[in-house]
Amino acid sequence: MEVGFIFTEQFNQYNFGSGHPLTPKRIELTYDLMKAYNLFENPNLKLITPRSATEEEVLRIHKAGYLDKLKELNNVGGSPYQAFPKFGLGPGDNPIFPGMYDAAMAVCGASLTAADYILEENSSRSFNITGGLHHAMPEMASGFCLLNDAAVAIQHILDKSPNGTKIMYLDIDCHHGDGVQWIFYDRSDVLTLSFHQDGHTLFPGSGLLDENGKEEGKGYALNVPLLPGTIDSVYINIFEKLVPEIMDAYRPDYLVCQLGVDTHFSDPITNMGLSTSGHEKIFKIINQNVPKYCNNKFLGLGGGGYNVGVVARSWSLFLAELLGVKIGDPLPEQWLDSFNEKWGFSQEEPPTEFRDQNWHIEEKQLKNPYWENELEDRADEIVKKYEEEFIPLIKKSE
Ligand SMILES: [Zn+2]
Repeated sequence: MEVGFIFTEQFNQYNFGSGHPLTPKRIELTYDLMKAYNLFENPNLKLITPRSATEEEVLRIHKAGYLDKLKELNNVGGSPYQAFPKFGLGPGDNPIFPGMYDAAMAVCGASLTAADYILEENSSRSFNITGGLHHAMPEMASGFCLLNDAAVAIQHILDKSPNGTKIMYLDIDCHHGDGVQWIFYDRSDVLTLSFHQDGHTLFPGSGLLDENGKEEGKGYALNVPLLPGTIDSVYINIFEKLVPEIMDAYRPDYLVCQLGVDTHFSDPITNMGLSTSGHEKIFKIINQNVPKYCNNKFLGLGGGGYNVGVVARSWSLFLAELLGVKIGDPLPEQWLDSFNEKWGFSQEEPPTEFRDQNWHIEEKQLKNPYWENELEDRADEIVKKYEEEFIPLIKKSE
């Protein structure tokens, strides 16, 4: 099965400056690792140079006033200390940088290219590692996200498809997929499902269990807020129970996934406890259920992940999973050299193994039965709510 992989070196233009967690090195080193594993030579991989997004396409989701502001700052460049709080721009998460409109439009264009690819009758899967900027709101930037490429791509697929087309958006980033949720909150043609660290303990604060959609969209916004420190076994257990059931109840024509990997135990800005081995298992569950319940149409987007070595390893695992090939240890020497050269061992400890385990976290938690019970109790409580209330509501509306 052919996989459309979207890539251009222009992706490094989306750059908030040195010291910002969303460094373009993440994308560069991921590409390098995929290349070191010869994934681009796989006969089933189609490397695609993205097209640009049109303003008309982006305006299906975003407000003109905000787009105009981005355009204005694009040329002036402004100063990284300038702030436009109304638009969410300024020092901190979303500093102003020259070329910011072009960079944001390029990411959107790449997700639209990925969407165009799976809109073709004979293509089934595509992957844009730079996409998944799920926090952006129609009239403002948020959480490193200038434009919501995920929402723009979803709307684009619907615009190009017959009436009655349904899209499921599954978001596994450590942060709640709030932008996409609120944009489609009152609609039933897009079901959003976000697994994330509980909003009481992490940005953006939303994604609570009772945020469940409104009006026409009642029942079509779903959230799985997990406790900080959630480990592979607890996460995978609940994911495996709920995701196929929700897909089966909704039966989407397309699955769009945000594949943030900031749930890793080493991530510098979050507090979850997953490993790259755990990520691989999650990817397998997603990929195996696409032909079963999602019309065999899948659009993968990147997302968060601020330990660069994790981003490179986990997304390489995902691409390998899509291609049906097995890759693994040891990490290629040439890639470790490029990690050192481009990112520097001083920035971050280089990974020593490809598939890591979170045994040291599990061990710590097992010594603390209270904590272990808390994690499982939360998971049980969520599953109960889904099975008794949320999933039957999806079925009823069909
Ligand atoms: Zn995130």
